[in-house]
Amino acid sequence: MALFYGNNQYVASKISIKEISKIYPGKEQDFVALKQVSLSVLPNEFVSIVGPSGCGKSTLLKLVAGLEESTEGKIWVDGKEVMGPGADRGMVFQSYTLFPWLTVVENIVFGLKLKGVPPAERKEIVDKYLELIKLTEFRNRYPKELSGGMKQRVAIARALANNPSVLLMDEPFGALDPQTKVSMQEMLIDIWRKEKTTIVFITHDIEEAIFLSQHVYVMQKAPGRIVKKINVPLPTERISEIKDTHQFIELKKQIVSLLKH
Ligand code: ADP
Repeated sequence: MALFYGNNQYVASKISIKEISKIYPGKEQDFVALKQVSLSVLPNEFVSIVGPSGCGKSTLLKLVAGLEESTEGKIWVDGKEVMGPGADRGMVFQSYTLFPWLTVVENIVFGLKLKGVPPAERKEIVDKYLELIKLTEFRNRYPKELSGGMKQRVAIARALANNPSVLLMDEPFGALDPQTKVSMQEMLIDIWRKEKTTIVFITHDIEEAIFLSQHVYVMQKAPGRIVKKINVPLPTERISEIKDTHQFIELKKQIVSLLKH
């Protein structure tokens, strides 16, 4: 397991990705989706991965989730090698993955029931997360009665209710209108600060990546690889106005130029 030096002490990585390659076999030619990708995420870090479509962002997240197997390299979460999917990794995807036949409460409680959490404890957890996503009064609605943003809030609550060690998010706000997207970003930052979650967030929206994260990994394609890790030295409290600051604009320019090459 990778260890990092910080504040005069060694801190164990939450996620450690070591020299991962992923090759998809093809009829005529194999396709190298990821080549020698390495990165580490510390506890309570918010890390984003940006890059053009097809550079392997989703593949990388699926490997961490244990939904795909790497061709080379290893991944550890909390020092345990990833061998398949597990409850220690919560996932939120772009497409709404709520169970349409279940209400908001039933969707959030689903995993807790499977785990055999007693009813009183379940209620406490669900009430907490409903409040966190500000949907308490919508608790008995069905997904089809909710807006896109509300559905994603439920998906986030459902993932967090299971108390995962890390939250993996694949373009979760990609399908939302710009205004909803901004309010979802602010809500996610708020949740991250309150819950001290460790988050890996995939997006092709550079502004979104900078706004949310402490570190942005920039990827390129053919083959999919990390070209740079950009530190985002902005305060952890983020409000939309931060996007107009000189520092934010400079970071954006730096990433745009990396993606052009
Ligand atoms: P991104 O999320 O950055 O858009 P993906 O990880 O979805 O990229 O895909 C990376 C590349 O791998 C793409 O060229 C895609 O076509 C290819 N790919 C993804 N999944 C498969 C698969 N199951 N079989 C073959 N090729 C795949």
